[in-house]
Amino acid sequence: MTTPKSSPEPSPTPLLTLGHPVLRQVAQPVAAVRDEAIQLLIDQLLTTVRTANGVGIAAPQLGHSLRILVIASRPNLRYPHAPLMEPTVLVNPRLVSASDELELGWEGCLSVPGVRGQVPRHQTVEVEYCDRHGQPQRQIWQGFVARIFQHEVDHLDGKVFLDRVQSEAHLLTEDAYQAMEIAALG
Ligand code: ZN
Repeated sequence: MTTPKSSPEPSPTPLLTLGHPVLRQVAQPVAAVRDEAIQLLIDQLLTTVRTANGVGIAAPQLGHSLRILVIASRPNLRYPHAPLMEPTVLVNPRLVSASDELELGWEGCLSVPGVRGQVPRHQTVEVEYCDRHGQPQRQIWQGFVARIFQHEVDHLDGKVFLDRVQSEAHLLTEDAYQAMEIAALG
């Protein structure tokens, strides 16, 4: 892994889009969370998810096939109804358990620009991971935040949300999706 060392304040990094082979690889576990290169990558993930109006991001989207993801739900232009939370960094995350109950919900992806799809996800997930300091953590998430986790952990396994869309009727362009959202609000 090579990382630029020039700027102390990480600038937004270009996102890989669908078709890039790294997005289809199974990412490798992180051996040493506190390594400088890993910490810099985490900072780049946090910066990029914020500036791109995302609610989550995974390291393969920045070209690093490593098991790191960020969940950063907050209301923004792409997800106006997202709940607000502190951005959370998950290193080597593991799904401990998930509710049987599946819910359909709309998703988009910074690596699949211009498309939204309805994807079935577990309503509740229990997750183990290391934080950026290497401390083990355990969390239970529900609803939209559980959905973000499942979307991002798919990226670590070489999957994108389109792989889970069950019908073409569950796919929309971003423009059609936004028009539907506005109509629903009106
Ligand atoms: Zn994505």
